[in-house]
Amino acid sequence: MTGLSFADAVNTDDYILCESLDDVGGYCQTVFQDGFVWDYSGHFFHFRNKDIEEELVSRIGKDRVRTINKDSRIYWRDHIIDFPFQKNIHQLPKDEFIECLVDVYEADQAQRDGQAPKNFGEMLSAKFGRATAEKFLIPYNEKLYATDLSSLDVDAMGRFFPYANFDDIIRGFRSSDNASYNSTFTYPDGGAIEYVRAVQSGVKPDNIRLNTAVTSIDLSKKVADTTNGTIEFETLVSSAPFPRLLDLCGVPYEPGTYSYNKVLVFNLGFNKKGPEKVHWMYFPQRDVCFYRAGFYDNIFNTERLSLYIEIGYPADGIVDNEVVERMRLQVLDDLKRCGIISDHELVSWHTITLDPAYVHITENSIKAVEQHKAKLSEHGVYSIGRYGSWTYCSIEDNIIEARALLDQLGARA
Ligand SMILES: Cc1cc2nc3c(=O)[nH]c(=O)nc-3n(C[C@H](O)[C@H](O)[C@H](O)COP(=O)(O)OP(=O)(O)OC[C@H]3O[C@@H](n4cnc5c(N)ncnc54)[C@H](O)[C@@H]3O)c2cc1C
Repeated sequence: MTGLSFADAVNTDDYILCESLDDVGGYCQTVFQDGFVWDYSGHFFHFRNKDIEEELVSRIGKDRVRTINKDSRIYWRDHIIDFPFQKNIHQLPKDEFIECLVDVYEADQAQRDGQAPKNFGEMLSAKFGRATAEKFLIPYNEKLYATDLSSLDVDAMGRFFPYANFDDIIRGFRSSDNASYNSTFTYPDGGAIEYVRAVQSGVKPDNIRLNTAVTSIDLSKKVADTTNGTIEFETLVSSAPFPRLLDLCGVPYEPGTYSYNKVLVFNLGFNKKGPEKVHWMYFPQRDVCFYRAGFYDNIFNTERLSLYIEIGYPADGIVDNEVVERMRLQVLDDLKRCGIISDHELVSWHTITLDPAYVHITENSIKAVEQHKAKLSEHGVYSIGRYGSWTYCSIEDNIIEARALLDQLGARA
């Protein structure tokens, strides 16, 4: 999306877009299989910039894009509570509610004259209290990031983290306010790839080179070698993962600076309906292998349960065929234990590993990205995108960042 967005809005035809795979779209792909529509894990769209949204939706066709009021829940043993956990502690069993309430009160008092938390893990307890952190925030985020949360920057999730202060939490007891950055989201009938095609429609087909991987970049000669020939460049914009770009350019960096997780995704199609209404559900339990499950059938209003399942792994975790098969069976087992499926029959499935998936934003990585980007830009090389900027962001952010770079370069159409 980042590379296409740049090409879509650049003021010249004198560019080449290299994509190592046989289609564009990166992680924003859609799989059509046995009547199911699945993405590379759930990709839903929430635009803050209405002009961008209107532009894309008009390219897709308004009648093909659904607008949906989000229904997100947390699996909490034998019942289900609303997401986010920290704003819905009053939905917990009474003893757990009291525990969380007293702890968040004490955390709030302590914060007034205490020190600011130094990392993401500390922030969770400092802001929301020990009980809320230990019951949901820590186990859930450890499952997702597959790392020690104290290694992450205090603001590792930026605006995507559902913050709430003590007053918000208390007021929410009377009337829940679960508003978040994606309270409503849009989704096209043909899956996330339709947004890709919308952006791609502004890119000259002849300028796209598929199956063309950039294999090395000579910064001083301004030449890129690819699996499909050599390209001389004035300006090179990369959306490849940042440490891979540094490798391609021969720029050294401290080992461990750019750590990340990977996510094993299963898309599962069943023969009959499962839980109604919910769009996605969070699973903090350490004995449930996945951290989140999404329900495409409740987005499309279809009759067969259609799920995406996400499992976090450290970057060096092995996810080979044997692991995939073992985890597929484990997922089915866990879905049954959690009451999501009963005698459902799995009729279709697909798997993909997103590698990298969530980058670990640390104090070090923030500084290193800035320094390395400054060095590369001296040679006309710019790195943008979720992985190019080594950050946590949405597809809308990718489009905005691409356009901002065009403005910076004075190259926007
Ligand atoms: C689990 C998960 C869920 C998400 N859910 C949402 C969501 O609901 N909504 C949302 O807005 N965002 C979501 N995102 C974020 C979204 O996926 C990203 O913001 C977006 O896909 C990033 O696009 P990109 O173009 O920057 O990077 P990518 O999609 O990674 O694209 C980079 C492209 O560069 C190509 N490439 C890499 N190296 C080379 C090379 N050497 N030569 C040539 N080509 C190369 C790759 O093949 C790829 O096509 C989610 C992300 C994850 C991991």
